[in-house]
Amino acid sequence: MSKTSKPPVTAPSIASVSHSLIPSYLKADDLGPWGNYLQQVDRVVPYLGNLARWTETLKRPKRILIVDVPIHMDDGTVAHFEGYRVQHNVSRGPGKGGVRFHQDVTLSEVMALSAWMSIKNAAVNVPYGGAKGGIRVDPKKLSNGELERMTRRYTSEIGIIIGPNKDIPAPDVNTNEQIMAWMMDTYSMNTGSTATGVVTGKPVDLGGSLGRREATGRGVFTVGAEAARHLALDISTARVAVQGFGNVGGVAGKLFAEAGARVVAVQDHGGTIYREAGLDVPSLLKHVAETGSVAGFAQAESIANELFWEVDCEILIPAALEQQITAANAGRIKARMIIEGANGPTTPEADDILHERNVLVVPDVIANAGGVTVSYFEWVQDFSSFFWDEEEINARLVKIMKEAFSGIWQVAQDNKVSLRTATFIVACKRILHTRELRGLYP
Ligand code: GLU
Repeated sequence: MSKTSKPPVTAPSIASVSHSLIPSYLKADDLGPWGNYLQQVDRVVPYLGNLARWTETLKRPKRILIVDVPIHMDDGTVAHFEGYRVQHNVSRGPGKGGVRFHQDVTLSEVMALSAWMSIKNAAVNVPYGGAKGGIRVDPKKLSNGELERMTRRYTSEIGIIIGPNKDIPAPDVNTNEQIMAWMMDTYSMNTGSTATGVVTGKPVDLGGSLGRREATGRGVFTVGAEAARHLALDISTARVAVQGFGNVGGVAGKLFAEAGARVVAVQDHGGTIYREAGLDVPSLLKHVAETGSVAGFAQAESIANELFWEVDCEILIPAALEQQITAANAGRIKARMIIEGANGPTTPEADDILHERNVLVVPDVIANAGGVTVSYFEWVQDFSSFFWDEEEINARLVKIMKEAFSGIWQVAQDNKVSLRTATFIVACKRILHTRELRGLYP
């Protein structure tokens, strides 16, 4: 009887895997947001027990696709844009995460954003891995036709790795429902059948979900209110400062104002406005919808951008881009609590300063998870072709966010760690547990 050698039943020891953590495709001295993410993972390793031997998995994206996106411009020339889709991890399910159009998009940024999606999706326990995409372009400089051609060509290029069961894009910075409609149509044309589940954040008439547009801001408010309760901070008398007044900051600001809070300062790409008595948020939202920025809003004074970080307030909501709160301004922040509507707005150095100063940071990976949670509802509704009413969607969203936050709060208390590290502990354990269950192939 011949004996066949079986693969080892136990996972490899940590000593048997490579630890060269700097990928050759990034500059070692300038890892950008990916470097911040790596530091965040390092802080969690001591809490992972036996699962720590799989940590390297988290430090390497599973798959990176860089694509050239050539399009005909309106003036007859051809322009080329650089596009990315990074699938960081798919252990718990298909890749999931938005697509951003911005002139500063880099590979390091998309890698970090894809990794934060893995953590976020695991933190709220939706059955997804993490992914992210982007194009290095200033979409404000494109005509509508150019924007559509660029979106469609990009979708076609990344079509080899996305799909309703593989990787599901969604809106992010400078992308919206219309762009999702073009992405869905392009993928569907290429595959020969209408595949609504390939993207989320679509128009409601095209398989989108009620409540999706407001979901990220609603989640920011829900988790923020829970955190405030723990601090015995009364929202109805709190002063709030918001950076970024788009889909996330605008909705969160509106919900805080409706709860009685005074939104005293708002900053966006156009400038910073301030009103001690509180801004009229509905009028400000109207002004932003009409002019594209908070700048020039008549019922407020304009202040220098740098002063935004020093504004007297209890709650600060960064809801724009990453790396905004750094060692340079963290010491000046007056808020008692920061709720991260944006992805990656606080650097690890700033995190330490804020922790030291007793400023509570509610991290992106739980605070802004409302968007992808309702994206999950949208995907489920698309698959079942049965659509829920908004009341049900919001109730389920609030339930998931509150339960996830309460579990994370407990882990933070038990281990005496920050909420970011606690969220990473919960999420990394979930991801690495499935990694271990699935095992290494071959
Ligand atoms: N772009 C959003 C985020 O950063 C949503 C992603 C999604 O819905 O897939 O969480």
